[in-house]
Amino acid sequence: MNKHYENLLPHMERLNAYSIALTMLSWDSETQSPENSNQNTSKAIGTLAAEQYQILINDEMKDLLSKLNTKEEMETLSLDQAAIVKKLMKSIEQTEAIPADEFREFKELIANSSRIWAKAKQNNNFDEFAPTLTKVLETTKKFTSYRAKENQDLYDLLLDDNEEGFTSEYLTAFFTKIKEHIVPLLKKIIPKNDLIDKSFNTLKFPVDKQKEFNHFIAEYVGFNFSCGVIAESEHPFTTHFHNHDVRFTTHYYEDNLESAIFSTIHESGHGIYEQNISDQLTMTPVGCGASMGAHESQSRFFENIIGRSEAFWTPIWDRLRGTFSEQLSSISLSQFIRAINKAEPSLIRTEADELTYTLHIIIRYELERAYFHNEITVEELPEQWNKKYKEYLNITPPDMKQGILQDTHWSSGLLGYFPSYALGSAIAAQIYYHLLDIMPFEQYLLEGNLTPIRTYLKEHFHRYGATKTTNEILKEMMGEPLNVDYYLRYLEEKYTKLYCL
Ligand code: ZN
Repeated sequence: MNKHYENLLPHMERLNAYSIALTMLSWDSETQSPENSNQNTSKAIGTLAAEQYQILINDEMKDLLSKLNTKEEMETLSLDQAAIVKKLMKSIEQTEAIPADEFREFKELIANSSRIWAKAKQNNNFDEFAPTLTKVLETTKKFTSYRAKENQDLYDLLLDDNEEGFTSEYLTAFFTKIKEHIVPLLKKIIPKNDLIDKSFNTLKFPVDKQKEFNHFIAEYVGFNFSCGVIAESEHPFTTHFHNHDVRFTTHYYEDNLESAIFSTIHESGHGIYEQNISDQLTMTPVGCGASMGAHESQSRFFENIIGRSEAFWTPIWDRLRGTFSEQLSSISLSQFIRAINKAEPSLIRTEADELTYTLHIIIRYELERAYFHNEITVEELPEQWNKKYKEYLNITPPDMKQGILQDTHWSSGLLGYFPSYALGSAIAAQIYYHLLDIMPFEQYLLEGNLTPIRTYLKEHFHRYGATKTTNEILKEMMGEPLNVDYYLRYLEEKYTKLYCL
């Protein structure tokens, strides 16, 4: 083994141990810790984050990396080792311009802000969250400006953090193309919506029975419970310590059957990706998804392409109906399929159908960009949010809870993240057409046998972790990088058939 690389290993082990500890604390605060724990615990989180910062930003580490960063040295490394070195250098570049005390303060702020957001949401009061949100946004802006080169767009830098190589120029064109397809399709669909009755979805579904079914369905799609657990939180999410401990949450509503089911399938998709990352990469800086878009492509592939198809539900329909025999006794499988795919403008992103979903993303993308270009203030956000919902979806949120306060992302400092969902949807559709070409995809679903699909994804996508970029993975797997046309074709074909257009 290269000597400099060998000397890096203990540093990486320490980085990873801090990472696991911090992930554990954040998991705990979202799922278990008592309401008043945050103030004190977030101080401890700040301390740990500051120590982790010192491990990354120190002369010994930088010296080793600069020695490794020559053509000759890099050639002595394996592909995985070279990817790890590159990832560490990028992390340093992203972090070192931030002074240590400011870094620590920000970590403390983030550890606190999710709780403040959740409470403000519960109280339906944006003013409770606004000062914290201002701090999060302003600090993110300041941190980004520390590392921006002259005339570099700050929002582009954030987008690049989430999805390397994707600028707002690319995304604006990407979104325009999708919008031009969705809006006319939606216009044709809406008048036909009266024919789809999904009132059964809001009957009373006891939570204990939902839990039982959701556990079943997570396992059915392939989430491995010997290396993973499910808990509950306000906003469903997935996290991991390594490939043998992957955790996700879901959220049960007694009066909404599909909410938890599709959150569970979505998060299972994230979880399966993490569980399938190779043993050689887990616990290293590249032992995670290739990018946020890559991650969302897997979750949305399982949730929508697989999870909302008739072939998927055919073998398990009796099980769902058996679990809720009273509520679903008069519902047929085809009625259920039409209901879970009904497309209509709605207020909540996470509950939105596949067709209108991207419009929710575009709204968030435009607001974030406007904020980073100093075109709007935090105080103006609720009004601008509502204005855009009226413009794109022709609805107005009746309150803050169903408007500006619905997502957790900004409180967690996730800026430039939302476009990943739309990129993920587009990638998922591209993968779908590829799988149709190379395997009896639908037949597997009808047989209740998802193993060949998962095995293929593991082999060609998951196991690489972040050693390759998303587009590199796509090119090797399918011969071309992300191409939005597959997504447009998918939506067109799906909704034309579903609504008999
Ligand atoms: Zn997701």
